[in-house]
Amino acid sequence: MQSTLTSDIQYLPGVGPRRAQLLRSELGLGTFGDLIHFYPFRYIDRSTIQPIASVLPDMAYVQILGTVMRADLIAKGGVQVTPDKSQRATRLSVWVSDQSGSIELVFFRGIKYTYEKLRPGQTFLFFGKPTAFGNRLNIVHPEIDTPPAAGADTSGLTMTGVYTSTEKLKNAGVTGKVMLRMVSAALNSCMDSIQETLPEYILKEKGLVPLKYALRNIHFPSDAQALSKARYRLKFEELFYLQLSLVRQKYVRSRSENGIVMPHVGEAFHKCYNALPYELTGAQKRVIKEIRADMASGHQMNRLLQGDVGSGKTMVAVLCSLIAIGNGWQSCIMAPTEVLAQQHYKNICRYLEPTGCKCALLTGSTPAKERNSILAGLQDGSIGICIGTHALIEDSVIFHRLGLAVIDEQHRFGVEQRSRLWAKSPGQTLPHVLVMTATPIPRTLAMTLYGDLDVSVIDEMPPGRKPVETLQIAANRRPELYRFMKKQIEAGRQVFVVYPLIFESEKVDYQNLEQGWQDIVDHFPFPPYKVAIVHGKQTSEEKTFNMDAFSSGRANILVSTTVVEVGVDVPNASVMVIENAERFGLSTLHQLRGRVGRGAEKSFCILVKGQKVSAESSKRLDLMCSTENGFELAEEDMKMRGPGDLEGTQQSGLPIELKIASLAHDGTILTLAREYAVSILERDPSLSRSENAILVLVLQGGKYDIKNFSKIS
Ligand code: ADP
Ligand code: MG
Repeated sequence: MQSTLTSDIQYLPGVGPRRAQLLRSELGLGTFGDLIHFYPFRYIDRSTIQPIASVLPDMAYVQILGTVMRADLIAKGGVQVTPDKSQRATRLSVWVSDQSGSIELVFFRGIKYTYEKLRPGQTFLFFGKPTAFGNRLNIVHPEIDTPPAAGADTSGLTMTGVYTSTEKLKNAGVTGKVMLRMVSAALNSCMDSIQETLPEYILKEKGLVPLKYALRNIHFPSDAQALSKARYRLKFEELFYLQLSLVRQKYVRSRSENGIVMPHVGEAFHKCYNALPYELTGAQKRVIKEIRADMASGHQMNRLLQGDVGSGKTMVAVLCSLIAIGNGWQSCIMAPTEVLAQQHYKNICRYLEPTGCKCALLTGSTPAKERNSILAGLQDGSIGICIGTHALIEDSVIFHRLGLAVIDEQHRFGVEQRSRLWAKSPGQTLPHVLVMTATPIPRTLAMTLYGDLDVSVIDEMPPGRKPVETLQIAANRRPELYRFMKKQIEAGRQVFVVYPLIFESEKVDYQNLEQGWQDIVDHFPFPPYKVAIVHGKQTSEEKTFNMDAFSSGRANILVSTTVVEVGVDVPNASVMVIENAERFGLSTLHQLRGRVGRGAEKSFCILVKGQKVSAESSKRLDLMCSTENGFELAEEDMKMRGPGDLEGTQQSGLPIELKIASLAHDGTILTLAREYAVSILERDPSLSRSENAILVLVLQGGKYDIKNFSKIS
């Protein structure tokens, strides 16, 4: 029977229904094709044979050529049993030796079979991981091969692929060797039905090897060079199609005529603009122009606004909202936390004063009466701008004419939450969408996650911001730290002290916070000091009260969890103390640091280290001290947390599963692939030329549809 890529994996020799079921549930492998595209995550050099005497317990794998000296069947309690009682044996111990020495091999499964196979006097190739058992060295369940015939060419056997496996699969006997046999059988029986997935001209222009060659060599590399060509081809293909799919979506959207047309800038905009207490930065002006052009274009805007903490994104959101107002539409701004929504509301109301535009705040804690009047105002259009939290996406919220939806710190919202926002003016054209983020995203990631969005970047800070001096100290230097804080407070400054609260429900974290707070209160007694505290378990009144105490300057110190991470603006705060800094990720640390350095004074970020700091955490803290550039930190962060040497394994947390390419490590290929995808679409926007037929076919296969992530409308 001729097999094809869609043949069921159970028909492979040695698989059968039970193993097939396991392969499906454990690894998601159901067909020959799945198996062929299931690539090794690393390779082992099997070209060298280790003398037994040189085997050490810390070696990852060894291959030895050993002659069986004796084989013992051993039952419970270490009692040796005779072959006729082999079913009672729980362990098989085999001693093999070569000219240099001897070593024990141990088997707990397949005992009878292995005992019969490994007859004394015979020589085999054994391959496995040595382990130290007490002061003895052995190899448990080595793979067994017949030795190469004398004079045979073994030069081709340099690298053996290693596949991801699971305990269950191993128990069912699906060893590495079995995997290799399966893949080999699948490849051999389908080789003829494997269709090239890239047009001939792309292979030529980009110097890529054909698919068949790539697939054979990714599993069974004939040598290192062939392997690297195979990998390059497969990585390029993967990233290329991903980008082609994204860029094409963007092209399609930019051609469709379904956006609300907002041709005017409007009076409200000018009134606000003219009353601003400062000049906009060049970057802010540029970004506003980009957004304005989108809103006037007649296409729906889908724009991501990236700007480091403190770069002034709020102002951009306000002015763009006023453009919507000036064209007779409403706008909403959704923030991830109550604290932030309130702060936005307070600031924005001030900016709106000269415009006469009516603004409302809607959160979970808005009292029912007020809430009802806001809902009415949104529905009849009398409220122009509504600021809020998740409360904005509740079903009862309906806008008269929602023209612009702004989402601050968009990564804090789920896709569904976000998309519910655009359905707020039933029966009307979708509003323009602006998502904002202060979390710098590495370029490669942005190109993928937001590949179909337009991106604006505020790459300039408002004038007068001073660098923040960042230092790390050990916890035992806290007395010194407290003296420093007192000096700053005497000079009229304010201090943030942040505790990690990674899992809000974890009791121990709260103890941390409470102990920390107690310690601070003990050292900074009232009077003259005043300490406020904010954390996730407070009611929103408590939070507001404490936040107000700090932002109005009444409290000198704000002790908190990471609720201050997002957006809080207190220019007079000049010190950010981060306790157990090793427990935070780089991007959080960077966000926290962004809370200071906003005023005219020199600011400090002090990273207090706990007892145990891993090497990786140390590196993070060092990085924090070495740069203030959020994009640089983001790149490093991705590299550190990325898939490391397990390249090709799927990257957790991403909406796409890359089979072989890595966003952290293949940035260069990604950039090339994207540029190439763009150039192809420029030449042939609808991919209707015959040489591009393959591209359309592959895209239609759906493998490269990015799962509902960047689809923001
Ligand atoms: P983020 O981008 O982090 O949201 P904000 O919008 O909160 O930043 O702005 C940070 C601070 O900078 C605010 O106090 C804001 O009033 C101020 N700001 C914004 N734009 C300018 C500017 N062009 N010149 C001076 N200060 C500005
Ligand atoms: Mg902000």
